[in-house]
Amino acid sequence: MKLITASKNPKKIKELNRILQPLGIQAVHEDDCGICLPEVVEDGETFLENAKKKAVSAMQATGLPAIADDSGLCVAALDGAPGVYSARFSGENATDEQNNQKLLKLLENVPEEKRDAYFISVICVVFPNGDILSAEGRVDGKIAFEPSGSGGFGYDPLFVVDGKSFGEMTAQQKDAISHRGRALRQIAVKLEEYLHADK
Ligand code: IMP
Repeated sequence: MKLITASKNPKKIKELNRILQPLGIQAVHEDDCGICLPEVVEDGETFLENAKKKAVSAMQATGLPAIADDSGLCVAALDGAPGVYSARFSGENATDEQNNQKLLKLLENVPEEKRDAYFISVICVVFPNGDILSAEGRVDGKIAFEPSGSGGFGYDPLFVVDGKSFGEMTAQQKDAISHRGRALRQIAVKLEEYLHADK
């Protein structure tokens, strides 16, 4: 099954497809359909609100079932920040490098035992008839004192699980435990049930 993806982040789309394709689902990018999706202002207070907003917008623009991921990093010592503001932590159009530097600076004097954090991903699928499916995945870890590894994207070089950063993991290792991997495997089950349910 094909779903149009609302995301404009090529690394995120790559990750979506890496996990969804073996499950029989393809996330199609706007460029693949020759469509330019409208920009969505991510002003929701929750990941679910933002994911829903992005998926509804893509579905309305194309008339196709759409999938959106809204995700972020929540750091205990920062009262859950950057949270829904993860992409623009150090300002609009911030680079991953700038966001990582800001995070390290804010945690400069925070000891190892207080550097707990988690990634969360909320996935939303919206159908042209208005039906909505959603799923949430979370992974717990710690924020390192310096970046390591060059894999992944965003905060991956700083997010450590069992002594290894997401940036140091292979794609398969990350997908097996990541927030996005967990949410996508759940949404695949829900989609399967939805598509086979008597209507
Ligand atoms: P959005 O969901 O596009 O609003 O942005 C999510 C932001 O959270 C990304 O730009 C990253 O900064 C961060 N993020 C979400 N998932 C990951 C991940 O798997 N690795 C690293 N950073 C992530």
